[in-house]
Amino acid sequence: PIEPWYIGGPVIKGFGRGSKVLGIPTVGNSIAYIHGLDEGMEANLSTEGYSTVLSDQPSGVYFGWAALSTRGIYKMVMSIGWNPYFNNPEKTIEPWLLHDFDDDFYGEDLHLAIVGYIRPEANFPSLESLIEKIYEDRRIAETALELPLYSKCREDPYLKSSL
Ligand code: ADP
Ligand code: MG
Repeated sequence: PIEPWYIGGPVIKGFGRGSKVLGIPTVGNSIAYIHGLDEGMEANLSTEGYSTVLSDQPSGVYFGWAALSTRGIYKMVMSIGWNPYFNNPEKTIEPWLLHDFDDDFYGEDLHLAIVGYIRPEANFPSLESLIEKIYEDRRIAETALELPLYSKCREDPYLKSSL
């Protein structure tokens, strides 16, 4: 059985780079709370607690389900890491919700259930090759999330609790 891990918090502004440079919006640095894996308990850790958990989490590309408080539950693919192409000074979590929204959703509460891992972080020789890889990650996430093993995680109480 899959044991998701959970993060959540209000969506805040990131580097303002996803949409502009990549054409791919990614919720930036929004994750303020880590939620306990057991019994749906919510352990709202401080930002320090959060960065410890974040630093323990291997860099790379993950997938799972995202619940946006006022909108619903969506497939999600996200990168954790330093984004070598952009030389970030900080390790970040950048979830991309696999849905076309008409507008931004800054300020809304976002809950993520992360269920699987696609690949380690990598550097790319060009922006085009980076973007191509991100779309390949998206296809992998979309297909995997249809598998019964992962699709049933959509019913996770932690996601429902934010709606
Ligand atoms: P930021 O620097 O704030 O991360 P981006 O250009 O990466 O800026 O855009 C991210 C913002 O775009 C999100 O915070 C959200 O409000 C909005 N957005 C719209 N559609 C999506 C989507 N499909 N996935 C993630 N964010 C989206
Ligand atoms: Mg972003």
